[in-house]
Amino acid sequence: MSESDPVPGGRPGEVERATALTGELTGQGVHGLVLAYVDTAGIARVKTVPTAKLAAAAAWGVGMSPVFDTFLADDSIVATDVLGSPDGDLRLYPDLDRLTVLAAQPGWAWAPVDRITQEGAPHPACGRTVLRRIVAGAAERHGITFRAAVEVEWAVGRGDADGDAFVPAVSGPAYGAARQVELSDCAADLLAALAAQGVDVEQFHPEYAAGQFEVSVGALGPVAAADHSVLVRQTIRAVSRRHGLRVSFAPAVLGQGVGNGGHLHLSAWRDGTNLHAGGTARYGMTAEAESFVAGVLGHLPALTALTAPSPASRLRLRPSQWAGVFTAWGRETREAALRIVTGTAGIRDRAANLEVKPVDLAANPYLALAS
Ligand code: GLU
Ligand code: MG
Repeated sequence: MSESDPVPGGRPGEVERATALTGELTGQGVHGLVLAYVDTAGIARVKTVPTAKLAAAAAWGVGMSPVFDTFLADDSIVATDVLGSPDGDLRLYPDLDRLTVLAAQPGWAWAPVDRITQEGAPHPACGRTVLRRIVAGAAERHGITFRAAVEVEWAVGRGDADGDAFVPAVSGPAYGAARQVELSDCAADLLAALAAQGVDVEQFHPEYAAGQFEVSVGALGPVAAADHSVLVRQTIRAVSRRHGLRVSFAPAVLGQGVGNGGHLHLSAWRDGTNLHAGGTARYGMTAEAESFVAGVLGHLPALTALTAPSPASRLRLRPSQWAGVFTAWGRETREAALRIVTGTAGIRDRAANLEVKPVDLAANPYLALAS
């Protein structure tokens, strides 16, 4: 299901599958389905339906205005000549392959959606559809597949702080044991929730900035990687609320100092072989991987319009904060925009990749990966 556009009436067998899933979900105490996408400004938007409506959603989608693609991050609205009017409707189609029971939101399941028009055509502003088509095109035209992962950094604040004030919920040092202890119960619940939801967590650690933590996850196909970055943030929010905490994924929570990144890890593969390892080009890359990295480097200033898109993104992009402000690559350097990750001897064939650093979580992950 994840590989193709939705079809009005449902893809072959899809409605039957949704009907079966409805019974399973109901049996697990799931009452409602969160149907999620990310708008152009990087905000996750949702519609929800009762679990009993899953088969109808698989067949005919769920309605939502196309206007959200012209919402800005503060919910103000711009208009363009093609998008941004009060007219029209879209259909949100849940991807049943990614349907996930939410461990930290009892009674709810979640699925990312593709958006198509009432006539059944792909919605041009559906970032997930854009990414899926680009990934398919790379495979068809060039025989290249990609693997990707989105790092998630966030700041944890006290839930009883006044108004919108950010008061760090923990006080220990960067990467400090004290900080891990201070968030112990919440962090354990987070790991349990992510594991229950099938998210392959690689690491969880206290980060540098006030109240900051990070989760990194294993590489997946690009669409799945973007889906998981949305799901991981939904889960972090939900677990944190249950612990009376508030969280921020903003690129610069305090407007100064180290910010929250959303670094992308990318690798290009051909015939099941990682092109970033075992080659004769620099740092063990194959010539093809080196060309791919050079292409990203060459287009990097323009790419940041999509990878670090908000005014606040510019507050994060400062030297000496590992945000990747220098248009350069380097072997395992955390200060260059592009870190060539060679991995450890013995596992390079699966571990070597490209880390792109001038990326934050204000980005739409689908558009960032597509670009
Ligand atoms: N917080 C840094 C950033 O804004 C990244 C730190 C790290 O390399 O994990 O990108
Ligand atoms: Mg980090």
